[in-house]
Amino acid sequence: MQIDPSLINKYNVPVPRYTSYPTVPFWQDDIDAAKWKTVFKEQFKQGNSKEGISLYLHLPFCESLCTYCGCNKKITTNHGVENEYMASLEKEWELYLELMGEAPVIRELHLGGGTPTFFSPDNLEKLLTKLFTNSKIHPQHEFSIEGHPNNTTKEHLQRLYALGFRRVSYGVQDHDPEVQRIINRIQPIENVQRATDTAREIGFHSVNFDLIYGLPLQTTKTLTKTILQCIEMKPDRIAFYSYAHVPWTSRGQRLFDEKDLPSTDDKMKLYQLGKQLLMDNGYFDIGMDHFALATDDLYAAKLEGRLHRNFMGYTTQHTSLLLGLGVSSISDAGVAFAQNEKTLHDYYARIEREEIPVMRGYFLSEEDVAFRKYILDVSCKGKTIFKEEHLAILKKYSFPELEKLQADNLVNWNEQGLTVTDLGWHFIRNICKAFDLHLLRNMVATANPRFSKAI
Ligand code: SF4
Repeated sequence: MQIDPSLINKYNVPVPRYTSYPTVPFWQDDIDAAKWKTVFKEQFKQGNSKEGISLYLHLPFCESLCTYCGCNKKITTNHGVENEYMASLEKEWELYLELMGEAPVIRELHLGGGTPTFFSPDNLEKLLTKLFTNSKIHPQHEFSIEGHPNNTTKEHLQRLYALGFRRVSYGVQDHDPEVQRIINRIQPIENVQRATDTAREIGFHSVNFDLIYGLPLQTTKTLTKTILQCIEMKPDRIAFYSYAHVPWTSRGQRLFDEKDLPSTDDKMKLYQLGKQLLMDNGYFDIGMDHFALATDDLYAAKLEGRLHRNFMGYTTQHTSLLLGLGVSSISDAGVAFAQNEKTLHDYYARIEREEIPVMRGYFLSEEDVAFRKYILDVSCKGKTIFKEEHLAILKKYSFPELEKLQADNLVNWNEQGLTVTDLGWHFIRNICKAFDLHLLRNMVATANPRFSKAI
């Protein structure tokens, strides 16, 4: 499908990725930790034995700074930091185990960072074994890790495979040597190939590549080469992200000379080109920057209406409790979100005091829960049914937005519900925005664009 560039331009406005609703800028800075514990406990009790829980571990260390990076990370070459961090993670887990009161059933587990493969295979194994000691593993578990192609070793992958990991995601970003030099991520294509081949030989059944468009010195020529080289390696999934230039929050980005960044028009061309290349080569647009081969479970889940979305992005597992452990990690208890302390210093101090280290979050109102469901329905199933009791508020805030979206053939809707069109899937963030009452009421995006643009 060719997408009209003027439509892409029209919808290229600041809009959240909706890994949560309400989105993070609307959370409270000072969370009531006692209330969080109560909500967590309740949600755990309801879901653990039925569906299990999801677990996210944030492993924040990286050996060198990629200057485009917006993640919460700590740059160091001192691997002595691994032990102290692991000890804190284990302590945090124990604090939650006390709240749970029974063995958690781990259904989904993701190791993210930072660079999880900064940790030695021995240490990763030790940490996970400790976590698993007091848990049960769900028969349909799905365990995944973000690996750096430069330092993911065969041993890492073998140990993780033995522990039940079957998915690996590699940060590829761009293969061009000049782009790699300016973003300070020197990563020969041979390393990507080796890490991919090794994972497959060991038995990992899903390999994901993250690519970024809009990086400094990137051109249509370099991006075409990168994407075609990636396609040859046949990753099962590709996430094709827009580079968000926010030097006021990501200080590493100040090291770029802004004149090296593609102009808005050029970035748009990169986006269109990349998307077209992926779709022409057998990758289906899942939504929100994610593409998958027809053989990948994510694609089947989309067709069957089984997709779910949480802080880890799209997933095929649906649990109503996601527990995030580690510095800056976010937990989602369905009716509440909580984020951990964002600096290592504060995180360690809270753990030392034997406190659950949450620092900010949000408790959802009934209205939030209902509109969160609309947003999840739209982003995961491409359709939703409106409840009569919400009609007044939908009429005031959402329907005027839907009218505009329908005029561009992105949705079909009436007072009963909505269906996303094929074209609409390419603008799914913009459609979700029609149900973002916090944004619509405050119009934060226009007054203060705290979200990156869609492209
Ligand atoms: S992009 Fe990944 S490897 Fe690079 S600094 Fe950020 S977290 Fe570390």
